[in-house]
Amino acid sequence: MSDHRKNESGSFASKRCPECFTQLPLDTEICTSCGMKIGKVDKYGLAKKPVDWLSYVLCLLSWVGLAVFVWWAFF
Ligand SMILES: [Zn+2]
Repeated sequence: MSDHRKNESGSFASKRCPECFTQLPLDTEICTSCGMKIGKVDKYGLAKKPVDWLSYVLCLLSWVGLAVFVWWAFF
């Protein structure tokens, strides 16, 4: 087995879920405790939250829909 524990991610052997702070292996992508998608470990030993583009776009679309509704309703 090759030893990748001391690489660019620092000296952490594990990372913590940013949502529930469960300790997880460094290569885990989904938290085994809360099911949240998580990214690489940061310098504090916490897993980064990957950008959730789908919910970002859905949020933007709902705001656009609201703006169109307001424009339609009042003008
Ligand atoms: Zn979690």
